[in-house]
Amino acid sequence: MTKKRPTLNPPHLLVVSDCHGNIRQYDQIFSYAENQSCVGIVHCGDIGPRFNATTKDQRKFLKEFFLAKTETLKQKRGSDFPIYAMMGNSDHRANELYFWKEQTTNLGQDRYRCIDGKIMPFGKFFISGYSYIPPTPFVHKEGERRDENGDDADRGEYILKGESTTPEGGMVSVDLQNLPTIKQELTELFLNHQDLDKTIFICHAPPFGTKLDCHKSETHVGSADILDMLKENDFLCSFHGHVHETVKMSGHFQDRVGNNKIYTVGNNPVADNPFVLLFELPSRAARKGNVLRGQLINSQFVNV
Ligand SMILES: [Zn+2]
Repeated sequence: MTKKRPTLNPPHLLVVSDCHGNIRQYDQIFSYAENQSCVGIVHCGDIGPRFNATTKDQRKFLKEFFLAKTETLKQKRGSDFPIYAMMGNSDHRANELYFWKEQTTNLGQDRYRCIDGKIMPFGKFFISGYSYIPPTPFVHKEGERRDENGDDADRGEYILKGESTTPEGGMVSVDLQNLPTIKQELTELFLNHQDLDKTIFICHAPPFGTKLDCHKSETHVGSADILDMLKENDFLCSFHGHVHETVKMSGHFQDRVGNNKIYTVGNNPVADNPFVLLFELPSRAARKGNVLRGQLINSQFVNV
């Protein structure tokens, strides 16, 4: 007798992150979305192969894999099935224009929707994305911005000057001092938006000093400005990525800041099975939703 596959009942959003070009993980994510009762996918950044891949390799991955997969999923689930995505700090910004352009097919249909720096309607809710992380000790600066409150956040060594990839395949110098801070960009993003309590806030970086930003060096590497944003505002909830090992380090994929329930995907990009979050949308707008569970796809449920 064959065992019946357990259904994951209520409609839910599938939240994924930090797949870093891992095709085994993507295959499972797309096949899950084809077959299960999820009502959309959100990718919280770091889509393509890791940063040491070339810009050309990352472009090839987007073109030959990501675009094709999202298009196939749309054909199976319907053209209005939402796939929200944004780049992370490991995705070369030299491909940013390409990534934005290719979200729509030549026939004008959505493959996916870029959420970085945008607030997009999602049924009776909104989804908003912010992809930059606070400064690291590494030379690649294109996915980084300064925290206005950075000096208060004790997150070890970091540098402000470095390099950024260009569409021509070269590098240019970048000084984060000459760019806006995370706080400035977030303030501008939400300036005229009244419905934060109906908004799912997707942020590649986690907030500083929480269970979501625990680095293997036992320091916190999240953003102080994102922490402030969450302290001062009341979102529907927030999802984060970036610190792959944080769930392993802290033992939790969720935490709270102010009135906000905050979650990290904490995916290990080299594992065979992706760690994902299943988010059950609240039945009424402005009520808090709940993550049903964090789960390794095709593996046993893990309790964290
Ligand atoms: Zn990552």
